[in-house]
Amino acid sequence: MDVGRLRADTPGCAEVVHFNNAGAALMPRPVLDAVVGHLRLEAHIGGYEAADAAQQAIEDTYAALAQLLGCAPDEIALVENATRAWDMAFYSIHLEPGDRILTARAEYASNYIAYLQVARRTGARVEAIPNDPTGQVSVDGLRSMMDARVKLVSITHVPTNGGLVNPAAAIGQVAREWKVPFLLDACQSVGQLVTQVDDLQCDILSGTGRKYLRGPRGTGFLYVRRSLIQQLEPPFLDLHAAEWTQPDQYVIREDARRFEAWESNVAGKIGLGVAARYALDVGLDSIQQRVTDLAEHLRGELSRLPGVSVHDRGRQRCGIVTFTMETHSPEDIKRKLAAQQINVTTSSRASTMLDMDERQLDKVVRASVHYYNTEEEVARLCSALSA
Ligand SMILES: *Cc1c(COP(=O)(O)O)cnc(C)c1O
Repeated sequence: MDVGRLRADTPGCAEVVHFNNAGAALMPRPVLDAVVGHLRLEAHIGGYEAADAAQQAIEDTYAALAQLLGCAPDEIALVENATRAWDMAFYSIHLEPGDRILTARAEYASNYIAYLQVARRTGARVEAIPNDPTGQVSVDGLRSMMDARVKLVSITHVPTNGGLVNPAAAIGQVAREWKVPFLLDACQSVGQLVTQVDDLQCDILSGTGRKYLRGPRGTGFLYVRRSLIQQLEPPFLDLHAAEWTQPDQYVIREDARRFEAWESNVAGKIGLGVAARYALDVGLDSIQQRVTDLAEHLRGELSRLPGVSVHDRGRQRCGIVTFTMETHSPEDIKRKLAAQQINVTTSSRASTMLDMDERQLDKVVRASVHYYNTEEEVARLCSALSA
């Protein structure tokens, strides 16, 4: 990987040491140019006319994401963020009293809140699968919980508050044996790991543009396996998701765009496609290798600092690195680093409550590396922390 060239292609690399890639990564120049270029076109010729002119670029976003996920373009929906993508699938699943939803202990708050709301409405139950001793979802634990009342297995691939990668393929295998849909929140994994849906054995996957994929903010996407699309009736329909065929009738689209709305941020959509192509060009295998190695290097350096504890668990780990320091609170660390143009963020209990409580953590610093970060930047972060 030509890190120098990739950094030169990233305007932000000249400004900041960016270790907040799990929050929002730095856009590469082609993404920035595509988004700004389309906004200019809208200003000059009109929004509808600009969308017509950009039809091919918009369609290519579906094709690029399909390639990234190993699916077909008609199994992709483009929406405004990963949460809405996930919601559109989740709220489409029919549940009855006593039905069971199985999820992970490190599940993301927005997903868990949705489980609780739907459980309250339908009488279904939400249950968290225990972790194995390494901290990842226990596949044996899942297996022992399965029965005919389980209607959904829904987990986060890479939790927002740590570097572990859950064993999606093995979880999907269990769900498949029971013919239960497997919903995978891949918000933190798409763009940093190889994420082919057939390997991950998932039926539904949600992701976001701004994180490891390096796309613009306000973009998200949903994959739904073709055989499942028509069994899922979206919670909202509009004249794009469905066609009004008779005064008292409508027909829902047959492809995954039934989960979309008509109006959207077209510039963002185009930028998302350019970001997906960019990741494909760099190569997901190389990205995964580089991000994983650099994060492991950062963990090693951090654990040598006195008073620093690294909190990442799991058998397989990725670019998210979390730690605390005895002498300073996570917010304090974030603020002091920001003053030196080093970006990190914090992850707090309310984002992943079950997991944080189990580990007796209230807040951690999250430093998430990308392939364009360097060993020198890791050294700068560590010397700032020791200073
Ligand atoms: C960020 C995140 C989300 C939400 O993504 P949005 O695009 O902000 O809606 C969902 N799940 C996980 C694990 C996340 O880290």
